[in-house]
This record gives sequence, C-alpha cells and structure tokens, in this order.
Amino acid sequence: MSVWDEVVGQDEVVATLRGAVLASREATGDAAARAMSHAWLITGPPGSGRSVAARAFAAALQCTDPAEPGCGRCHGCTTALAGTHADVTLIGTEKVIFAIEEIRPLISQAQRAPSQGRWRVMLMEDADRMVERTSNVLLKAVEEPPPRTVWLLCAPSPEDVLTTIRSRCRAVHLRVPDPRAVADLLVRRDGLDPDVALAAARAAQSHVGLARRLARDPEARARRRRLLAVPAGIRGVGDAVLAAADLIETAAADARAATEERDAAEKAELLRNLGAEAGTRLPPALRGQVKQLEDDQKRRATRAQRDVLDRAMVDLLSLYRDVLVVQLAADVELINTDLAAEVRALAGGSTPEQTVRRMDAVGVARERLAANVAPLLAVEAMMVALRPQG
Ligand SMILES: [Zn+2]
Repeated sequence: MSVWDEVVGQDEVVATLRGAVLASREATGDAAARAMSHAWLITGPPGSGRSVAARAFAAALQCTDPAEPGCGRCHGCTTALAGTHADVTLIGTEKVIFAIEEIRPLISQAQRAPSQGRWRVMLMEDADRMVERTSNVLLKAVEEPPPRTVWLLCAPSPEDVLTTIRSRCRAVHLRVPDPRAVADLLVRRDGLDPDVALAAARAAQSHVGLARRLARDPEARARRRRLLAVPAGIRGVGDAVLAAADLIETAAADARAATEERDAAEKAELLRNLGAEAGTRLPPALRGQVKQLEDDQKRRATRAQRDVLDRAMVDLLSLYRDVLVVQLAADVELINTDLAAEVRALAGGSTPEQTVRRMDAVGVARERLAANVAPLLAVEAMMVALRPQG
C-alpha cells in the first residue's frame, strides 16, 4: 500500500510528483533544496482528488523509507496523511473566503526550518478562496521561500489563482478519472460490490467521495433518485414553485445534519475553555467569544447548504445531459444508468433544443447561487424553466 494508491486514475501527475521527490533525494544539502520546486499549484475539477494528491505528495516528501518515497507505512507517511505531522501544515477554511488574519500567521510559520522532517510543507486547499489583498500577503511567502519550505496550493483551475502567484508555481493538473478507476478503488479499499460501485462512480461523475457515499448509503441513493424524479413531476408553475421550496428545505436539512453535531461539540469545548458551565449565564466579557463562534458556525452552515444545492444542480445537469444523449442518439454511456427509463421518457417528451435550454437554466441557477443570490429565488426561476413547454 503506497501513498499514491488513492490518487485514482492520475498516472501522469503521480509520475511528476514522485519524480520530484526522487530528484530531491538524489541531491544533498543545498543542491537538494535547489532541485525542489518550492511552490506547486495542483488543479483539477471538484472530486478529481486535489487534496488527496497534495497529501500524498506531502507524505512522500516526509517519507523516511530509503527505497520507496511514499511507502505508506513509515511514521513520516502515516502522520502526514493523518494530518498530524509536525512539519505539514494543512490550511483550509470553512468560510467562503479566507480571512487575511488566517493567512498572516502562516507566513511566519513558513519561514521556520522543519523540526524533524525533510521539508516544511504548507498545504493549502481552496487557494481560490482568497481576495487579491490576501493573495498578495501569500505571494510574498511564495516568492522567497526558505530552502526547506514547500508550498502546495490547490484550486479548481490555474485561472482561479492570481497570475502573480501562478507564475511562481510549478503546475500539475488532475483529470476527471475514469469511473472504472473510481469503482476499482471503492471495491479494493472499501470492499463494496463492483456493480453498485460502478453505478455510483458514474452517478457521482467520478467524484471519489460522493461515489463512496452513494455506494455505501442507500438513503443517499434514494435522495438522489427523488431529486432526479422532480423534473418529470413538474406540470406547471405551481409545481415548480413547490419543488423549489422542497429542494431548498432538503438542502438546509442536509447541511444541518452535517454541521449540527460539530457545532454543539465546539460550543461545549469553548465554554469549558472559558471555565463556564453549560446553561449558566456568561459574564459579558466572554459573550463576545461565544457570539464569534456562533457567527462562524452560521457561515459554515450557509456554505454547507450552498454546496448541497450546487451538488443537486450538478445532478440535474447530468440528467439533462443523458436526455440529450438519447435525443441525439450519441454513442456515449449514460451517467444515470439506473434511471434509463426516466431518461427515455423525458427524451421522448421534448426536443433537443428544449433540453439545451433547460441545461442553460440550471447553469444560470448555479451561477446565481455562486453570486450569493437568495437560493429560493434562483432555484424557483430554474424550476419554472424546467416545466413542459407547449
Ligand atoms: Zn513512508
């Protein structure tokens, strides 16, 4: 089991990253530092495994096995993968945008030599979630890195990162893996049934995490089926408005389920740290800290709800994509193999032009959600556009 095993269907990227680790090992001292690129930009569409690849790279950099960098067994590998290695800093944000205060302390941390590993690795997920002012703070660190520091920045595409940062980085791009490769991983690693795994990998459009959830959780599969049955049930504007309200409510419930337990645990911990008993009245001086936490949690819930909604849009797009495939008699596989009958019914009841217009409507709703339009408004307009047209 090597650290690269979970980087599914990305042979080229793995070869590049492994090669970089090997090259830096062959050299010694200053030459090793020079042989290494100190800033990497790892890009790829959601679900392609950006952070999985970045973590595997971080592990291989810290690996202590002399023969196989990224052995997956040594202390360096296991702690780097688990996120507990002293010289690997994982930088993520629950917010929509990184705050500049979140970035500043990292800059001084990046200046320090590694304490035990070969490298100090600064791994930033969602490097696209920065405004220019924050990016410029980061740029200074990426421009003049100490000899033993390596920055790994992840983003959906190179264009999502400021040009000045991009030009300092060595770029690697992940592809959408083949659904078969994703299904193989689910069978090999999670012991799932091959047929269920393949249908889930297709439905999730090769998003490894989603495919795993769909394959393991019948309730998740049922939720997806219910969502994709919605378009066939819309007869007029009234149905569309109801369907929109229903989708928003489901997304909010999903997001709550995902965040509730963690919110409660965080609050209990904060109160404990402040020396307060749960349920008692806090002195005014401490209330601010609790309020701050609650605000952060609210922002996180908003982001979770938006992510759930966006996923629903991607699923709807996959449905209409399949409808179009049938209408154009294109020789490609359906994404929703388990909904072939529904897809054919929708295809028979509309024209390819109407299907394209519906896909546009879903695309517009996604853009509006990303631009922070009230979710209900965006989704209502979309549902209305999905109703049968004359
Ligand atoms: Zn190792």
